[in-house]
Amino acid sequence: MVENLLEIKDLYVEYKTDKGFTGEKQIIHAVNGVNLDVHKGEILAIAGESGCGKSTLAKAIIRLENSKSGEINFEGKNVLAMDKKTLKNYRKKAQMVFQNPYASLNPKMKIFDILKEPLKINTNLSDIEIYEIIKEKFEKVGLDKDCLKLYPHEFSGGQRQRIAIARSLILNPEFILADEPVSALDVSIQAQIINLLRELKNDYNLTFILITHDMSVIKYLADRVAIMYLGEIVEIGTTSQIFINPKHPYTKALLSAVPQISGKQQERITLRGELPSPANLPKGCKFHTRCPHCMDICTQCQPSDIEINDQHSVKCFLYMKLNK
Ligand code: SF4
Repeated sequence: MVENLLEIKDLYVEYKTDKGFTGEKQIIHAVNGVNLDVHKGEILAIAGESGCGKSTLAKAIIRLENSKSGEINFEGKNVLAMDKKTLKNYRKKAQMVFQNPYASLNPKMKIFDILKEPLKINTNLSDIEIYEIIKEKFEKVGLDKDCLKLYPHEFSGGQRQRIAIARSLILNPEFILADEPVSALDVSIQAQIINLLRELKNDYNLTFILITHDMSVIKYLADRVAIMYLGEIVEIGTTSQIFINPKHPYTKALLSAVPQISGKQQERITLRGELPSPANLPKGCKFHTRCPHCMDICTQCQPSDIEINDQHSVKCFLYMKLNK
């Protein structure tokens, strides 16, 4: 039976920009009514183009970003209502790996000290116990313990991402949010890091939320995929449902850009226009300004989730019309 690790309900995140050339502050509607369950032990990918709100959603999940309203339930508690002490405990269980491993590691600290910091802050372990944990996690991500005395700049990009992953494991988390974990790396290194994440998931019984725009990474790594557009999840399903039988026109457009190993490239769907500003959300279906199948109803009304089967759902009037 599927057990939920996280239950996100009707989540909204918005923030104000600095004054632009108009002199007005704008409200950015980054996450707009997201409902999402994260299953224990799965790799759930959240996909969409840059600016769709996926990174904001990830930050909201660990309260690095404030939410306007909604709920994020973890072990029966709403993360958004947690007091300082409960939040500190939650953050031990929820770790994040960022896109740029160099920026996320303090260049003035030796790797051992970087990895020691969370253990010093959150535990009463002795120095020997701390060393054993650091050594275990460091070797688990494929690095030699003799390198613990080095500084971040003495490592390659791939090695730095391994260090960032080791740090995320140090407090034995329940889940890891990985925000574009391989997109800053050389293609030759990407596969190694992807394989490492998969291995760690199995060995530590972890849950991963993988934030990425790269559908090839998702195809290889994820169990389920949520497609995000302008702060909404427009389609969600298992990875095979999304890749073999996509229903939303936006999902189809994203997939049409993925290179096929067979060499049989499907026809590329080019979307018209740019992603609208999240400060001025379109009325009706938020995708209607770019959708090749836009109908009158799409410009006026918002589609709600339609269940295709118990794992696959889509927000689209066209699907509704074709399946009446
Ligand atoms: Fe396109 Fe209409 Fe479906 Fe939106 S609801 S994706 S505009 S067909």
